[in-house]
Amino acid sequence: MTVKITQRITGFKVVDETLERPAVTADNTTGKTTVVEMDESLQRPETLVGMTYKIKSPLFEHALYVTVNDVVLNAGTPHEQRRPFEIFINSKNMDHFQWIVALTRIMSAVFRKGGDCTFLVEELKAVFDPRGGYLKKGGVYMPSIVAEIGGVLERHLIHIGMLEGHTLDETQLQYLAEKRAAYEASQGAVTVEPGEGFPAGAQLCSKCNTQAVVQMDGCATCLNCGNSKCG
Ligand SMILES: [Zn+2]
Repeated sequence: MTVKITQRITGFKVVDETLERPAVTADNTTGKTTVVEMDESLQRPETLVGMTYKIKSPLFEHALYVTVNDVVLNAGTPHEQRRPFEIFINSKNMDHFQWIVALTRIMSAVFRKGGDCTFLVEELKAVFDPRGGYLKKGGVYMPSIVAEIGGVLERHLIHIGMLEGHTLDETQLQYLAEKRAAYEASQGAVTVEPGEGFPAGAQLCSKCNTQAVVQMDGCATCLNCGNSKCG
């Protein structure tokens, strides 16, 4: 729409139309639906849906409990969207209290800004503890406790549909099962590690960070993600 200004401009004001909106679709009476997007002006609803994840790490004496609460925008419309709104971490262990509070406040602020927050997963998962990481059950290498928090956020975002999971398809799974059977046959009796059950002595995979790489016919093959390097 074009507006022709016929008088002198004596002042102006930026009108913030989005200020203080509730997290529901506004005004169904006019038949017009307004799609609510995530941004800082969104008021926190009285109740939020959330999930709590437990992290056990040899670096921590007590478990960490990570709670991510989500807001459901445009509920009941085709634009329905579940987004993380805030994150809290609780533990009996107070040694790490300051940085955990700082990290979760900043993460919550990023969630509330709106836009893409999935980058947090890769950023956090790339943090290495200079004292060294640890292997989790199932042979997955965790480079730090911060990376573990990134992993929890990833699981949560996959769960609410903001990130795609890395599940392998039928053909890939069949290929891995064949590779594995061939490896076990070539080795005779194979000792299997507890957890996900990759052969004992398997090496760490640089692609999926899992201790599942075995040597087969001159190739290093990962029995978890199928990554293979020959020669
Ligand atoms: Zn792998």
